[in-house]
Amino acid sequence: MTPFEPAVWLPEGKKAAVCFHIDDIHPGRSSDPYEAGGDMQDGALGLVEALLERHPKLQVTLFTTADWREISPVPTRKVLARVPWVSERVYLADIHPKGTMALDRHPRFVSYLQNLPRTEIALHGLHHIHKGPRIPVEFADLPRSTCRAMLAEALGIFSKAGLARPTGMQPPAWDLSAELAQAMADIDLQYACGARDILSPIEDNALTAMSGPRGVPLFEPAWIANGRLLHIPTNFQATSKLERAVAIIERGGLLSVKGHIIKNAMGHISADGIDRLYTNFLDLLFTILEERYGDDLWWTTPAELASQTVARREGLS
Ligand SMILES: [Zn+2]
Repeated sequence: MTPFEPAVWLPEGKKAAVCFHIDDIHPGRSSDPYEAGGDMQDGALGLVEALLERHPKLQVTLFTTADWREISPVPTRKVLARVPWVSERVYLADIHPKGTMALDRHPRFVSYLQNLPRTEIALHGLHHIHKGPRIPVEFADLPRSTCRAMLAEALGIFSKAGLARPTGMQPPAWDLSAELAQAMADIDLQYACGARDILSPIEDNALTAMSGPRGVPLFEPAWIANGRLLHIPTNFQATSKLERAVAIIERGGLLSVKGHIIKNAMGHISADGIDRLYTNFLDLLFTILEERYGDDLWWTTPAELASQTVARREGLS
């Protein structure tokens, strides 16, 4: 269980909130092992652009990896994977050489991202790889000081690419350890998207019990890491039902919608991969919410939500 304190987060005049965020953005193109935004308007991000055009209040957060090195999300070196001790200490699949997908080496991609309307570009790890059998859990088992150094390196790449300093991160594979949360606060990040729970029923005081941190509020932001970091849960994706969104909003919660930019990673299909079917569903969902709730809804981003919540807490103390 992750200890937390409730946060006062909803602005005056709003009854509930919506945010939409997409993971794994990096310059990978369809000529690479898979497309991850690198085809720009001709790829998955073109579908996101169309959604932004149709919903003028909608904002999107692109959780972007500073220097993506993952190729396969699962081990492909099967023999090595069976060798005890060694298997924990090597990469069990091919990876991109360092710098291949570094944002500062892809200026056209970066300038495309910067010109998207109502788009927050936030952090999604440094390389998105880890030694051993669970490849994407980049920060797993690492001490606070190592996490801090990796975060600093990632922020350095963002800065070299000319991107604004992100104020938060979705850790790869939902893996937000207590050490990582403290490291994020140490370098003045304000928020972490950590837990994903698209299964637990929406009821009063519901807590997360699926991927990432357990025991934090399922549909409200909350303070973690001794009050130093705002946790923002994910509670909705492509396979969720409209009723779940309505239940969250009726309880005055944050409807937090996740997508993954890569639909098909070497044969591994994401249920919430951004494709035409998912963006059509979101188009319908957002249209219904706008019609039903109008100005009662706050269409926000994790960064905006965190900065206002931090400011409000400072004003109260
Ligand atoms: Zn990821």
